[in-house]
Amino acid sequence: MDTVPLSKKSKLNVDVVIVGQGIAGSVLALSLTRAGYNVCVIDQPSLSLSSKVAAGIWNPIVFKRLTKSWLADDLVPELIHFYSHWEKEFQTALIHHRHIIKPFSEEHEKSFWLKKANDTLTKNQFLDSVTYENLQIDNNYFVKSYSKVLQAGNLDVVNFLENTKTYLSNHHNYLSEVFDFYECHISSQEINYKSISAKTIIFCEGHLISKNPYFNWIPMKPAKGETLTIRSENLKLEQDIFNKGFFIMPLGNNLYKVGATYEWNELNDLATEKGRLELIQKLESIIHSPYQIISHDAGVRPSVIDRRPVIGHHPHYQNVMVFNGLGTKAVMIAPYFAKKLVNAISYQAPIDLEVDPLRFKKLM
Ligand SMILES: Cc1cc2nc3c(=O)[nH]c(=O)nc-3n(C[C@H](O)[C@H](O)[C@H](O)COP(=O)(O)OP(=O)(O)OC[C@H]3O[C@@H](n4cnc5c(N)ncnc54)[C@H](O)[C@@H]3O)c2cc1C
Repeated sequence: MDTVPLSKKSKLNVDVVIVGQGIAGSVLALSLTRAGYNVCVIDQPSLSLSSKVAAGIWNPIVFKRLTKSWLADDLVPELIHFYSHWEKEFQTALIHHRHIIKPFSEEHEKSFWLKKANDTLTKNQFLDSVTYENLQIDNNYFVKSYSKVLQAGNLDVVNFLENTKTYLSNHHNYLSEVFDFYECHISSQEINYKSISAKTIIFCEGHLISKNPYFNWIPMKPAKGETLTIRSENLKLEQDIFNKGFFIMPLGNNLYKVGATYEWNELNDLATEKGRLELIQKLESIIHSPYQIISHDAGVRPSVIDRRPVIGHHPHYQNVMVFNGLGTKAVMIAPYFAKKLVNAISYQAPIDLEVDPLRFKKLM
């Protein structure tokens, strides 16, 4: 393994260069290092980093239909396995197992929930088959009837990104800079970028994939989102996440994350007055006691038009790959597909056609 600082070397040979260190680049880099590969990560977070605003929630249920979310049976065990391993490695708490409280506004919502939870054919172990009454959320707000999504939780994303960066800087290679495509030279044998040579390059730039000359043909539909962090002495949520078309997640010390908005036009990381008002309105439909806004953040979710990730090889260059399109579910999707991508590099194992960039080849 190469541990000499990059600046002191004339030429650096690595197995894989990764561009971008959000959730995608981080999970992928750690998966590759664990499989024995030497990596160099190049990232400039000030360009646009969606991961830093993510609540980090994993929710295995699609609320509208009360069905399991895509591949939930595979994704949930893999994410727990992955982040638990790195918790031990980094010696810090990264994941919090929580339930998601789903209030029922109408009686038919409750009966639909019970029908879905008790359907033996679908074996939906993520829906609690019991319903509950009278949960106090705020001094003056009680949820009359509700149930819970099980096996949900959240990743402390900022802590995960920081620890990953430290780990990569100490044990591998990490460059804080904007990747310059003019300096990148690709042949079927190797990738050369400035003084680095690599066998493979993998792009993980989030929604800025639109500026990547190798993958700018992928039809993205990025969605900007905003969150508030508030302090409240009166909210009674201690562990579970409350979800009523928006979420309130306890962070500890009377702090709560509230989100999120969706906006498809102004694709930047700037928090807006419109987003703030929308979140305040939602929040105040629940809480009536005083609270304080601690921070207001925005980011852009890298969603693809068909709502599936894009993971795999460039159609013309086998050694140029993409790991992107994690949309609203990065925490859940990344570990499972990082494993698939590592297997594709190690054993030429195929990656699911459903996520292969080749599905959009005619748009190149
Ligand atoms: C408000 C909000 C709430 C969310 N909540 C959740 C949630 O609860 N659970 C969940 O799973 N997901 C959530 N998401 C979605 C999640 O944030 C994204 O899916 C995820 O962060 C995408 O990660 P990424 O690594 O692909 O992209 P990013 O996090 O955007 O990272 C890309 C990185 O690449 C860098 N980069 C790009 N181009 C270059 C270049 N040329 N040179 C160098 N660096 C470059 C960027 O600056 C950035 O650092 C939320 C998103 C938002 C906006």
